[in-house]
Amino acid sequence: MSEAKQREEICMIGESIFARGLTAGSSGNISARIDEGWLMTPTGSSLGRLDPARLSKLDPEGRLISGDAPTKESFLHRVMYEERPATGAVVHLHSTHSVAVSCLAETDPADVLPPITAYYVMRVGRLPLVPYFRPGDLALAEAVRSFAGKHHAVLLANHGPVVAGSNLDAAVNAIEELEETAKLYLLLRGAKTRFLTPAQIRELEA
Ligand SMILES: [Zn+2]
Repeated sequence: MSEAKQREEICMIGESIFARGLTAGSSGNISARIDEGWLMTPTGSSLGRLDPARLSKLDPEGRLISGDAPTKESFLHRVMYEERPATGAVVHLHSTHSVAVSCLAETDPADVLPPITAYYVMRVGRLPLVPYFRPGDLALAEAVRSFAGKHHAVLLANHGPVVAGSNLDAAVNAIEELEETAKLYLLLRGAKTRFLTPAQIRELEA
């Protein structure tokens, strides 16, 4: 896909995510790999009103080539590209239901959400909880790095999900599946629930 097309796609996806209330204010960020490095949503920008010409263009080391300064959370994206060479795009949101689940005290930090649906298992799989760090703390990048080799999706405690995909569609579909599953999980809490069985999960993984 050409860089111009990638720019258009990032802005269209941002507008769609914002319009559906999947992230609010100037939160959330999207990036995509291009030949010269990657494109990134700028700091302080609303995903609902992105300008293709002003997206941050970064070289492979994360230095700004053109456009506005990148989001202060760009390091979350960079570690995904570094640890997962097949990554074509990364999305990070402060989506309400995923953030709510990231604040629950009694979840399994190795796998925060249960296997509720087949699509969740196929698009997200196991979801580790990354410990809380204050915004901008680079220790968060190293914490994400420690999971990124094995997981394309992680949930930052008291913060939100970060999801990598082979392209923009794959990353967006996976983070939306994660958000919907978090919503289902909260709806089902307290009710006796049939989750997928280990045999059903093995069948999907095969
Ligand atoms: Zn964030």
